[in-house]
Amino acid sequence: MKEMRERAQNFTFQTEVNRMMKLIINSLYRNKEIFLRELISNGSDALDKIRLLSLTDREILNTNPDLSIRIKAEPEKRLLHIIDSGVGMTRRDLVQNLGTIAKSGTADFLSKMQDSDKVQESGAQEMNDMIGQFGVGFYSAFLVADRVTVASKHNDDSQHVWESDANSFSVAPDPRGDTLKRGTHITLHIKEEAADYLQPDTIRALVKKYSQFINFPIYLWAART
Ligand code: ADP
Ligand code: MG
Repeated sequence: MKEMRERAQNFTFQTEVNRMMKLIINSLYRNKEIFLRELISNGSDALDKIRLLSLTDREILNTNPDLSIRIKAEPEKRLLHIIDSGVGMTRRDLVQNLGTIAKSGTADFLSKMQDSDKVQESGAQEMNDMIGQFGVGFYSAFLVADRVTVASKHNDDSQHVWESDANSFSVAPDPRGDTLKRGTHITLHIKEEAADYLQPDTIRALVKKYSQFINFPIYLWAART
């Protein structure tokens, strides 16, 4: 345990990430629900990646042949889980992909959105168009969560846990070991005011709304309350 703790490392977010998070919180407070679209689409992207790799390397799916997304709510603990059996992230991926913004186009998005006149002039529809065009990504999780935990298992690494309160983040070997065969388990610690997103009916409606174009099964279940 001591050794595990020593291997945990703390990081600060890249400046662009902090800007992005501020922007998301300030401009999307009326569109909080898009967090689920973003997380489902990331799960779907990760599943696409492993499926594509499996075309040239069939063995790659041996760690888990199932390709799906699972969503589970625990209202009494105020936790929402989104689990995919996609490609997963190594420790290095967790630090890089969930600590920086690699996407080209994001700088563009940031400057457009930060033009406060434009944001004020633009109606809800235009705002939605912008969101649709750019996608706001993983960090939209902080619209509804005050803490986000990401456990991930990639074929090339042992399982690691990324955790953040939106101010900084840490990455550590998962003390539970490799509990995921392969893929990513996102745990959202839901804010009090966003508790509605723990209700099965709300989640079901959102999944229906946002999952039409997802090519993998999405299973939804709620813990008994
Ligand atoms: P985008 O999806 O447009 O690249 P995001 O902010 O949504 O931007 O995600 C950032 C990156 O984090 C992704 O490109 C991907 O590399 C990684 N990532 C996020 N979620 C997952 C996931 N569920 N499985 C694997 N990688 C992920
Ligand atoms: Mg994304």
